[in-house]
Amino acid sequence: MGSRSAADIGIASPPAGNGLIGLAFEDSDDVIRSAIDEASVPALLMSMIHMTGDLTLFEELPHPFMLIAMDLQGAMSEADKKTVRERAFDVVRSYRDRGCPPPFVPNPEQMRVMLDVMSAGQVTEEYLDYIAADLRFSDADQCGPVLRSSPEQRSEFPVVVVGCGEAGILAGIKLKHAGVPFTIVERQSGAGGTWRANRYPGCRVDIANQYYSYSFEPTDHWSHYYSEQPEILKYLNDVMTKHDIAPHVLFNTAVVGAKWDDESATWRVGTRSAGGAEETLTARALICAVGQFSNAVIPDIQGVNRFGGPSFHTANWRDDVDLTDKRIAVIGAGASGFQLVPAIADITARVEVYQRTPQWMAPNVSYHEAIGAGAKWAIRHLPYYGRWLRFVSWWPLTDAAVERVTIDPDWDTGGKSCSASNHELREALIAWMQAFTDDEELLAKVTPDYPPMGKRTLQDNGTWLKTLQRDDVELINDRIAEITCDGVTTADGVHRPIDVLVWATGFDVNHQLGPLNIQGLGGLELNTAWGDSPYAYLGITVPGFPNFFCMYGPGTNAVNGTSIIYNSECQMRYITGCIDMVLAAGAASAMPRAEVCSDYDRRNQEWLKTMVYTHPAVVSYYQNSAGTVPTLYGGRIVDYWKWTNRPNPDDYKLRYADVSLELEH
Ligand code: NAP
Repeated sequence: MGSRSAADIGIASPPAGNGLIGLAFEDSDDVIRSAIDEASVPALLMSMIHMTGDLTLFEELPHPFMLIAMDLQGAMSEADKKTVRERAFDVVRSYRDRGCPPPFVPNPEQMRVMLDVMSAGQVTEEYLDYIAADLRFSDADQCGPVLRSSPEQRSEFPVVVVGCGEAGILAGIKLKHAGVPFTIVERQSGAGGTWRANRYPGCRVDIANQYYSYSFEPTDHWSHYYSEQPEILKYLNDVMTKHDIAPHVLFNTAVVGAKWDDESATWRVGTRSAGGAEETLTARALICAVGQFSNAVIPDIQGVNRFGGPSFHTANWRDDVDLTDKRIAVIGAGASGFQLVPAIADITARVEVYQRTPQWMAPNVSYHEAIGAGAKWAIRHLPYYGRWLRFVSWWPLTDAAVERVTIDPDWDTGGKSCSASNHELREALIAWMQAFTDDEELLAKVTPDYPPMGKRTLQDNGTWLKTLQRDDVELINDRIAEITCDGVTTADGVHRPIDVLVWATGFDVNHQLGPLNIQGLGGLELNTAWGDSPYAYLGITVPGFPNFFCMYGPGTNAVNGTSIIYNSECQMRYITGCIDMVLAAGAASAMPRAEVCSDYDRRNQEWLKTMVYTHPAVVSYYQNSAGTVPTLYGGRIVDYWKWTNRPNPDDYKLRYADVSLELEH
C-alpha cells in the first residue's frame, strides 16, 4: 500500500477550524496538564500521532489492553496511563509551540497500525473504510453520495418529511444540502420527537453522547458523558437552528394520511393542525421519520381507567402534577421506570415500583458523570481526540459485541444464558448487583432468569439498587390484579393506596405508524401490508410504495448499543441516493423489487434467529404476535453502512413518466 495524502482521500487538507477534529490553541501548560489528566488515554495516544505523525511513539509507549464497553481507558493499568500522560504533556506543548499545524492524517497502512494499537488487534481489514469515514479521515459519510442529477431537477422535487425528531431534522439538513425543497410536518409544538415527548424526571440518553450525536457536528459541548433529556432536546434544537431548518417545519400539525397518485407520481399528504385546519401537501417523495417510540402503550390491566387521581404515561409527563410528598405507583421497570424512580424518590412520600420482569443492568460508572473542564478542552482542541473518543465509545458496543449476543445451539443453562461468553457476562452482571446489596430477597427479585442482552440492557452506576433499598421505596413483583379508584391491588390481595399513578409501560414498536394511513400503489394500505410484522428493504423502502422512505423503520433497531442517530445518517445518505437515482435516470419514481425486499427481510430474520433477542427464554416488547422481532436489525453495522452507501439500481423498479406499474403481491 502506498502512502496517501489527505488530498488523495478526498480532502484538500484536514478540515480545520470546524470544531470536529480540534481547534488550534495557545493555552497554558496548566490547562494542558488538566486536559491530559482527565483524558481518555487511548484517544490521547492516537491524538499524539496526529500531532506528531510519529508512529514510533507506539514502540515507546504502552497501549490500550482491550476496548471494553463503557470504559474509556482501554483497560490500561494506572502505571501505563501515567506513562502515556507524561509523554503527552511534552507532545501537546510542543504542538502548541509549533502553532498547531494541520494534523497528520494517516494513509491506510498507517491507519491499520493505529487501529491495531487502539483496538488491541480487534479491528479487521474490512472495517478500515468505515472507521476512517467516522473518524473524518475522509468526507464520505458527511457528504453522502456524489449526486448525478442536476440542481434544477432536484429543485423541482418537493419532499414531505413526517416527524421532526433526530431523523426528521437530519432529513431536513441533508435535503437542504442537496437543494431539494422540503416540508417537515410535526404534531408536537416543537422539534425533538421522542426527546421532546419524554421529559420525565431522570430521563437521559443511554448511549454515550460522543456517539449519540450527528457525526458532522462538534461534540465538545456535552456536559455529561450521558446527558439528560433537556440537554439533548436543546442540542437537537441548536443543530436545527444552525442549519436553519425551522422555516421548513409545520409544527402543531399532524399528518393524518398520505396517498400515492401514480399518474402524477406524487404523494398527496393530508395534514390537520392543532386548530383543526386541514390541508393537502403535494410531494414527489415522502419520508416517514416517526421513529419506533411514538406510540405509548398503557396495558389493558383491569380497572386501567378507574384511578381517581392523576394517571399518565412517562411519554406524556404531567408537569402540572406536583409529586412532592405524594405516594406514587410506577408501573413498569424498563428503561423509563429505571431512570424515573431514583429521580423522584427524594421528593415523594413513597414510591411503589411494579416490576413484571427484572431487566439486566450493565455497570457504567460514568453514567451520571459530568465531563470535566479538562476533558472538554481535550475534545475541543486536541487533534482528532474527540473522534477517537467517539470510537472508544462505540466500538465495543456494536459489531465487537456480536459474539455475546449469538446463541450457541449446544449451550444449555435452562434459559439463563445463551453461550459461554454470554454466561460470563451474566456472572459479571450478577457480581455487579451484589456489590450494591447483600439482601438475598432483593437480589432474587432483580436478577433476570433470561440471558443478558436479550432485552435492552440498562446502564447502571448502582443508583437503581441503592434506591430500591430506601425505606420509602418498594419493589413489588406480584402480579397486578386491578387498579382501583384509590390505588393498586396485587394478586396476593394486598391493596396499596396511592396519590399518583405513572405508567412506565413502553411503546408499541411493531405498529410504528399508529393511525397514520399511508396508501401506496392501487390503494394498498401500509398498515394493512405490515400488520404487526413490518418490513422494508434495508429498513428504508417498501414494495408497492413508490418514492416512500422510512427512517428508523422496520428492521433497523440495533439493541446492543448502536446510536440511532448514526443509523439515521446511513438511511438519509441512502434516501438522498434514491432521489438522485430517480432524477438522474429521468424517471418518475422508484420502489424496491418485491423479491429484493423479501429476500433482505428473510435474511435479517434468519440472522436474528441466531441471536439472543429470539432466545426462547426472552420475552420482550420487540416480539410481535408471531413471536418474531421485525423491528430489529440482526446484521453487522459495518454491512449496514456499506449497503446504505448508495442504492443499487438493480434493486429497484423505476417508473418512467408514461408507464404505469402493476402492483406486485
Ligand atoms: P419498556 O422497556 O418496554 O418497559 C416497560 C415496562 O413496563 C416493563 O417493565 C414491562 O414489563 C412493564 N409492563 C408492560 N406491560 C405491563 C403489564 N401489563 N403489567 C405490568 N408491567 C407491564 O419501556 P420503556 O421503559 O419506556 O423503554 C422502551 C425503550 O425506550 C427502551 O428499550 C429504550 O430503547 C428506549 N428508552 C431509552 C431510554 C434511554 O435511556 N435513553 C430511556 C427510556 C427508554 P416486562 O419487562 O415484563 O414486559
